Amino acid sequence: MKILVAEDEPTSRRMLEKILTVRGYDVVTASDGRSAWRTMQGGDPPRLLLLDWVMSGMSGVELCKKLKQAELEKPIYIIIVTAMSKEKDLLKGFEAGADDYITKPYNANELQARIGVGMKMLSAQDSLIYTANHDYLTGALNRRAVIDALHRELARAGREKKALTTAILDIDRFKNINDTYGHMVGDEVLKGLVRKLQSIARPYDYIGRLGGEEFLLVLPGLESVDSGRRLEAVRQEVEDCSITTDGGDVGLTISIGAVVAEGDADVDKIIGSADRALYRAKDEGRNRVAFAREKGEAITRTR
Ligand code: GH3
Ligand code: MG
Ligand code: MG
Ligand code: MG
Repeated sequence: MKILVAEDEPTSRRMLEKILTVRGYDVVTASDGRSAWRTMQGGDPPRLLLLDWVMSGMSGVELCKKLKQAELEKPIYIIIVTAMSKEKDLLKGFEAGADDYITKPYNANELQARIGVGMKMLSAQDSLIYTANHDYLTGALNRRAVIDALHRELARAGREKKALTTAILDIDRFKNINDTYGHMVGDEVLKGLVRKLQSIARPYDYIGRLGGEEFLLVLPGLESVDSGRRLEAVRQEVEDCSITTDGGDVGLTISIGAVVAEGDADVDKIIGSADRALYRAKDEGRNRVAFAREKGEAITRTR
C-alpha cells in the first residue's frame, strides 16, 4: 500500500522517506500541502498519509480537513506529524479529521507501529464496505449497491450524452433445478452463473443480485444494436455452458428483459420497463432477450 509523506522541510522529508522505504513501504512524497492535495486528486491515490502539521501554503491540518470533505473513492487514514504536543493543538488535528498523530522527533519503530495500526484500520474498513455492498452467496453486488450503481451510471450517461443499457436477467425454471438436484446444488448454480457473467462482463459493467434467481446488469455506453447483440451473446453463453456442482453438471437458460435509456431517466421506470420486458421474454417461451417496447416511457425525463 502506498504512503504519502507531505513534509516541507527537505531533510526531514528525505529521512522519513528513507525510514519507510527501508521498511518496505511504497512512498510518495510531497513538498507542501498543495502538491499533496494534487497527488490525492490523481488516479489510485495513497490511502495512508503522513502529514506534517506546519507547512507553508496549506498546513497538514488544513489539508486534512479538505481531504475529509472530498469525495474520495476509498477511505484514507491520516497521521499528523507534529512538533506540538500541547493537548489543545492535538485536539485541533483530531477535529480536522486526523486519525492519529505522532510528535517530532519520532521513534522509527513507533512510527512503524502506528502505520501498522492505520493499515489494519483501512483493511477492516475495506472488508466492512465489501460486505455491505455484496451478496453473501454469489459475490455479486447486492440489490442496494447495484441500484446505486444504476443511479450513478444514469447520471454519468446524462452528462456524457451516452446510452445506458439496464437488463434484468432471470434463470428459467430454476425451481425445477432445486427440485431435481436440491437447494445446495441450486446455490452452486447461482454462484456458477455469477462467475460466468463476471467472466464475460467488461471491466466497467455491473452485475448485482436483485434477489432469488434474478440479477440486474448495468452496461454503460452501448447503443441499442450493440446492447441487443451483447445480451444475446450473454444468453447464448449461459445456454452453452454447464455449471459443475457437487450434484453433477447442470445446464441452465436465462431470460433477459432490457431497456436502453439515454441518461437522466427515472430508475424506477427503467426497472419497471425491464421487468415488463422480462415477463414478455418468459411469456414468449423463455431463453430469450426482450427489449422494453415502451422505450419512450423509460427514457422520459423526470424534469
Ligand atoms: P421462471 O422461468 O418463470 O422464472 O420459473 P422459476 O422456477 O425460475 O421461477 P419461480 O419464481 O417459480 O421460482 C424461483 C425459485 O428460486 C424458487 C426459490 O426456491 C428459488 N430460490 C430463490 N432464492 C434461492 C436461493 O438463494 N438458493 C436456491 N437454491 N434457490 C433459490
Ligand atoms: Mg513543516
Ligand atoms: Mg426464474
Ligand atoms: Mg424470478
